[in-house]
Amino acid sequence: MSVEVVCGKCGERIALMKMLKPLRDVTSKHGGRCPHCGQRLSPSEFSLDAAGA
Ligand SMILES: [Zn+2]
Repeated sequence: MSVEVVCGKCGERIALMKMLKPLRDVTSKHGGRCPHCGQRLSPSEFSLDAAGA
């Protein structure tokens, strides 16, 4: 099972995780910002969706 990390602002997928990692790991990879819309990301502003489970 993999998990999609979706920007709460623009709805674009930021990352696809094979396993749960700390969200900080994912956001820090992109400088703490959504690579699509540039929105600063905080854990409350994006969502996790199970994909293809
Ligand atoms: Zn975004």
